[in-house]
Amino acid sequence: MDSQTAQKLRQHLAHPRRIVLVPHRNPDGDAIGACLGMARFLEHTGHQARVLSPNDFPDFLKWLPGAAGVSFYEKAQEEGRELLQWADLVITLDFNSLDRTGEMESALKEASGSFILIDHHPEPGDYAAICYSDTAVSSTCELVFNTIEALDGLGKLDAATASCLYTGIMTDTGSFKFASTSPRTLRVAARLMELGADHAEIHRQVYDTNRPQRLQLLGRALGNLRIMPALRTAYITLSQDELDACDFQKGDTEGFVNYGLSLDGVVLAAIFIENRAEGIVKISLRSQGTFDVNAMARTHFAGGGHRNAAGGRSTESLEDTARRFEGVLPAYQNQLLTA
Ligand code: 5GP
Ligand code: MN
Repeated sequence: MDSQTAQKLRQHLAHPRRIVLVPHRNPDGDAIGACLGMARFLEHTGHQARVLSPNDFPDFLKWLPGAAGVSFYEKAQEEGRELLQWADLVITLDFNSLDRTGEMESALKEASGSFILIDHHPEPGDYAAICYSDTAVSSTCELVFNTIEALDGLGKLDAATASCLYTGIMTDTGSFKFASTSPRTLRVAARLMELGADHAEIHRQVYDTNRPQRLQLLGRALGNLRIMPALRTAYITLSQDELDACDFQKGDTEGFVNYGLSLDGVVLAAIFIENRAEGIVKISLRSQGTFDVNAMARTHFAGGGHRNAAGGRSTESLEDTARRFEGVLPAYQNQLLTA
């Protein structure tokens, strides 16, 4: 964080504030870890902090310290609006545009407090008085660590806060395997361990608390894997019927898309998941090297993200969405072959 941003932040936090922290819709470990970690730090430094999420998050994150205190806009819109009116500071974490909160966008636009944006996605929006955005950093949780450090607050970073931040860094780096993991990321993770984050227990809670149905769903997903070696692409489809047959719960498909990328030579992996209730197909794209899935998601699937991890949606059927995906691939052939 540059000194000017740190200075502005210090001014905003010079007196006790009422602060609401907001992750993106369908929050992942990084978004929720960053909100809970930052909220806890703020509480420990004399502020009142509440986390308001657009909607629910997966069970494998429910153990996080403070998770039980999160409010959900989707479940109680009026309370959510009131909470945002109450706030004199709104900190948005792990997203770059207010429309990433879905229906909560209108309530955020009515909020009268100042906004602070902390995020690592490209092209941050201009809605915030303070914008701490760095696409080179592994995760928003790493940015929150930097923020706390810039506020000379590492002394107030307890084991629970460290666990929240460690979780987000771990999940957003694929357990420290993605190219986004820097030496600094590992130093921050080490520091969080020293502050009390139990890395083995966090890993177990996030990755080794599956229900049998989730592994059965993974089996179906892998059975549907379609590999296109000439285009160095692999993709998975999951229909609503397949999800229902395996008693799908939020978060069950987390990480499935990465199996495509584990194939030797594959540089682009996708998963298409039907959501009948919302009338959409949710799309996740992942890539290796220089292939830019953020551009692909923005151009073809009403989405966005990072160069190597992006998402989007389609209102066509599952089959038509997959067919359209196959249809656009030839235009990317050169990029796929040189990625
Ligand atoms: P996932 O595939 O895990 O849902 O998301 C991967 C990345 O893409 C995340 O960084 C996420 O923020 C971003 N992303 C996912 N869905 C969308 C979307 O609909 N719109 C935008 N702009 N980004 C998305
Ligand atoms: Mn993130």
